[in-house]
Amino acid sequence: MTDQTTLDALRTEVRIWLAANAPKGWRQAEQTHEQFAAAQRDWFLKLVEGGYAIPHWPAEWPGGGRSLAEQKIIYEELAKADTPRLLLSFVSTFHAASTLMECASEEQRARYLPGILKGETWCQGFSEPGAGSDLAALKCRAVRETRADGDVYVVSGQKIWSTMAQYADKCLLLVRTNSDGVKQAGITFLLMDMKAKGVTVRPIQQIQGDEEFCEIFLDDVEVSVADRVGEENKGWAVAQATLSSERGLTLMELSYRMRGALSYVAELIRRHGREADTEVLRQFGVLSARVDSACAIADQFLENRMNGIEGLGDASIVKLTYSRVLREYALLGLKIGGLDEQYRAPITFGDLNTGNWMADYMNSYAWTIAGGSDEVQRNIIAERMLDMPREPKNWVVA
Ligand SMILES: Cc1cc2nc3c(=O)[nH]c(=O)nc-3n(C[C@H](O)[C@H](O)[C@H](O)COP(=O)(O)OP(=O)(O)OC[C@H]3O[C@@H](n4cnc5c(N)ncnc54)[C@H](O)[C@@H]3O)c2cc1C
Repeated sequence: MTDQTTLDALRTEVRIWLAANAPKGWRQAEQTHEQFAAAQRDWFLKLVEGGYAIPHWPAEWPGGGRSLAEQKIIYEELAKADTPRLLLSFVSTFHAASTLMECASEEQRARYLPGILKGETWCQGFSEPGAGSDLAALKCRAVRETRADGDVYVVSGQKIWSTMAQYADKCLLLVRTNSDGVKQAGITFLLMDMKAKGVTVRPIQQIQGDEEFCEIFLDDVEVSVADRVGEENKGWAVAQATLSSERGLTLMELSYRMRGALSYVAELIRRHGREADTEVLRQFGVLSARVDSACAIADQFLENRMNGIEGLGDASIVKLTYSRVLREYALLGLKIGGLDEQYRAPITFGDLNTGNWMADYMNSYAWTIAGGSDEVQRNIIAERMLDMPREPKNWVVA
């Protein structure tokens, strides 16, 4: 438990650091994809230097070992200072780091974790055109072959919806190494070099013009057996560690960023002269309470996880709550701001940093799908937490 004096001191320290170091005018400066990527890398490296990039990592890492209360302060202050979210590095610092720390060998941790702090970026290659909600149906095939300098897996297939893969150096890759028996039992988890021969990345253009995610085509790509996490055909359990981080840890950061950014909605209310509008104030009150409850749920998740008592479905509750509140946040901003504010939102949580309430609202729907759709999270809660009957296999909608 960190005492209040220490927390107040940290808040002051972060504010002072941000006043000197937070990037200014970054939305206007990021006109091209190259500028976006360069600005993201610079900001991440600056945060590493300042000691605020990885507060959730263990204490042996510079800037790690922060208590839960300290992490929250850092995320809130980063949002209040309108700093860009780390879109390029969140898969590295959350998904990849958690997977490596929980499931990888000592040698793999030593090989990959330091690279993350130097700006090496990771993407997640799980989903396929026929395997999203039903991830275990994945078909991307890996065949083990012998080489004089060490065995490799030769991988062929396609991945899709891989966030920021066009900028990634490495990939958390799920492949099929066995097609007999239960489908979960034939999956292997690999760490793939995105620059390897046979990897082709094609960004997908979205309705609002951005290219947040990509297709990845793999054509006889060789991945060293030394880059397998866990045992062959036991990758499903490793993938659960990645998904728990995605659904729980990432959204804890996002929930606290959202709380830090409530002041933007308040500012919007003032700018539009709506301070005396009781209906608007009521809606703002409801939103504030919901954001607080999302943070409290994320807190509980993290505390349980830190105490080793994470329950099946806990991360799903965090994700469901966050995606609902995010939409309410963007919708309220959109309603108050109207057309005038389309290009003025000071921050976005939809992962695009558009500075546009409409785009943020549209993109808030992405969070009801990313990391497993809301319907699938509800199934997980019903089946694994509440012990309700499993849905019938191969159901068909009449
Ligand atoms: C912004 C964003 C970022 C993403 N980033 C990545 C990434 O980096 N790496 C990666 O691997 N993937 C990523 N994804 C993919 C994501 O994990 C999948 O989109 C998601 O799991 C849903 O799979 P699907 O798109 O194939 O939809 P489907 O599985 O085809 O689902 C279609 C619809 O059917 C519903 N449905 C499916 N099964 C059931 C069921 N059993 N009961 C009730 N309803 C059901 C779903 O809820 C959904 O509404 C990302 C997605 C988004 C939106």
